[in-house]
Amino acid sequence: MTNPSLLILPGDGIGPEVMAEVRKIIAWFGAKRGLNFDLSEDLVGGCAYDRHGTPLHDDTMAKAQEVDAVLLGAVGGPAYDKLDFSVKPERGLLRLRKEMDLYANLRPAQCFDALADFSSLKKDVVAGLDIMIVRELTSGVYFGEPRGIFKEGNERVGINTQRYTESEIARVARSAFELARKRGNKVCSMEKANVMESGILWRDVVQEVHDAEYADVELSHMYADAGAMQLTRWPKQFDVIVTDNLFGDLLSDLAAMLTGSLGMLPSASLGAPMENGRPKALYEPVHGSAPDIAGTGKANPCACILSFAMALRYSFDQGDEAARLEAAVNQVLASGVRTADLMQKDGGTPATTTQMGDAVIAALEASL
Ligand code: NAD
Repeated sequence: MTNPSLLILPGDGIGPEVMAEVRKIIAWFGAKRGLNFDLSEDLVGGCAYDRHGTPLHDDTMAKAQEVDAVLLGAVGGPAYDKLDFSVKPERGLLRLRKEMDLYANLRPAQCFDALADFSSLKKDVVAGLDIMIVRELTSGVYFGEPRGIFKEGNERVGINTQRYTESEIARVARSAFELARKRGNKVCSMEKANVMESGILWRDVVQEVHDAEYADVELSHMYADAGAMQLTRWPKQFDVIVTDNLFGDLLSDLAAMLTGSLGMLPSASLGAPMENGRPKALYEPVHGSAPDIAGTGKANPCACILSFAMALRYSFDQGDEAARLEAAVNQVLASGVRTADLMQKDGGTPATTTQMGDAVIAALEASL
């Protein structure tokens, strides 16, 4: 049997620094758990522009289409701020998402016990929190036509159009139900069916997909504004939330920050299943290239490490090994090892990026 393939795109700024720690962890899983990957590495973002004059070379794009999953660090930096929009580092990432047709954006909000004090909410509200927001990523009001600023009589009018087809709703609903089956088996769908026709269709189609294909999963519906309120009131009532592009943009940021630092937040973007049944997939930390700390050894590698854990669970069907890696991160934090972003003022000497990665490996080792 061939090994599953993984394309690594470290990118710019702290991207290569945090990815170096993930590489060590991938090697550990190979050596100690017999989980071997067919690894390749390439350029994306500013470093690709420096080499090829484009933030994503066609060959890299083609590779991304072939592999079982892509793991990306971060792109961007001040050196590229003045470039033309068409070749800015972020365009490389956008091209990947667009051409791979990654329509389901997964943003977990998981609170590690040791970091419960970092949340702006009370500790008992967030301790042990583990929810997943699935945001539709390629349609809705950010893409619908007509759009623009037009002249109407004596004034201008700004127009955006919320538009969803049944198939667009059905495919992201399927992603959410599939995920729920690998987690707590519960989906809450959020829209504004009380005031938007697209919301009525959203609710109907999610219900239809559920009844026809996923009747074993518990489904509920909630208006998105009430959902925002419930997310801050008692977030632990949720397992998987599925929602559209606009509401998902807001709700995923809200949910993510329930849990503390940007340095801890992974994400995944999934597309249609490939021939081997695995979804097209791009895993990446939520944070950017952090030019203010790049090269100083201060970057927290956990967001990128946890993105790899998501790849283990959602692309490679290794839920137990993903849980082992997440538990190792939790244990390291509980033992008091913290990078600078996770420390209160005067909290002692922070761990470097490398020390954090080494501590996770030691915790993995101890898990055997
Ligand atoms: P950023 O996420 O890079 O940094 C925001 C703040 O969080 C900074 O103070 C940074 O030091 C800190 N931070 C981020 N990640 C951290 C980590 N792992 N450990 C410790 N601290 C961390 O956002 P920004 O400063 O707005 O953007 C910087 C560059 O990154 C820009 O060029 C932007 O376009 C790009 N960017 C890229 C992505 C991506 O690659 N997906 C996402 C956001 C921003």
